Amino acid sequence: MFPFVHLPQYGLIVCSECQHAVLPSHVDTHLGDKKRHDMPKESRDGIIQEIQGIPGLRTERDELNRLVFPAPTDPPIQVLRPPRTDGMKCQERDSQGAQCQYIACQVQNIQKHYRIEHTWVNEAKQGRPRKSNVIPVPWRSGVHCQHFFVRGPGAQYFEVAPQAGSQPIPPGDSGFAAAKQALAAALEKAEEEERRQIKEPEEAREPNPWLRRVGWASHLAGLDRQEMRKLVDNIGADEPDLEVLCTGFDWMIQDAQFNAVKEVVGLHALFEANKKEVDKKPSMPFESWMDITTVKKYTKVWKALLCYVFRAENRPPENRPAYRLTDAQHTALENLR
Ligand SMILES: [Zn+2]
Ligand SMILES: [Zn+2]
Repeated sequence: MFPFVHLPQYGLIVCSECQHAVLPSHVDTHLGDKKRHDMPKESRDGIIQEIQGIPGLRTERDELNRLVFPAPTDPPIQVLRPPRTDGMKCQERDSQGAQCQYIACQVQNIQKHYRIEHTWVNEAKQGRPRKSNVIPVPWRSGVHCQHFFVRGPGAQYFEVAPQAGSQPIPPGDSGFAAAKQALAAALEKAEEEERRQIKEPEEAREPNPWLRRVGWASHLAGLDRQEMRKLVDNIGADEPDLEVLCTGFDWMIQDAQFNAVKEVVGLHALFEANKKEVDKKPSMPFESWMDITTVKKYTKVWKALLCYVFRAENRPPENRPAYRLTDAQHTALENLR
């Protein structure tokens, strides 16, 4: 069954060469992948047959949402990639009072988790004066963690016990150990580069059909993920132009809401505006009023788009995402500056 290894207690098979779990239904594609194993059909079929004979394997994607994870005190699973040591683990409890198991390896992700799951407010962004520069965070850092799958369901990190060998090598150790560490660091760096660049082939594996349809991966191909994220960041104190632009946008929306009422455009127009199909009269007229949180939520998306184009225009043309402005949009943007 090589390169696969069966982990009976989790109902999974792991590719020992790629060091991650693979769903039985994906084994054929995985082994046939030119960039990975490039295995001929006959050899693949033998392995697939062996795997089909294993009882108790999880075969469906949604079964991965009910995966059982090892206890945090268990040693790492050898056949998976060596644990990351930079995990940040949530310290809150879930609605049933159990310890939340969420782990992220990126600050943005753990912040988002706290915000959404535990209604947390990031004090670092509130501009409150602090006695020291150290901002306390609610999560536990330096958590050793692994995951079974690379993406999608089953890709969440789980905590494992730190291993003696995974401690940083003290300086002045043998030349061999130092060289090994340097090599590991270089590899890590190369992988980080790999992760940061947005790649087009990712699109085919995108599980969300909507994301596939909007085509962000080809739109952003070759650009740096972190740099791109900055284009939609909150507006900084050094960006007064953008602040004015977004405030103007809010006013425009407010104006539109004031005008899309019976007293201004008449009831007919509102019925017309609410039509979803040309030949079907809607049962209700268009209603422009909505609660302020909804307005904020909707306009936030548009404002992010404005920030995105406005900031991207400051970059050299070869470093801009592949959007194109119409002449009128271009002139309008020029006039703003
Ligand atoms: Zn593999
Ligand atoms: Zn949590």
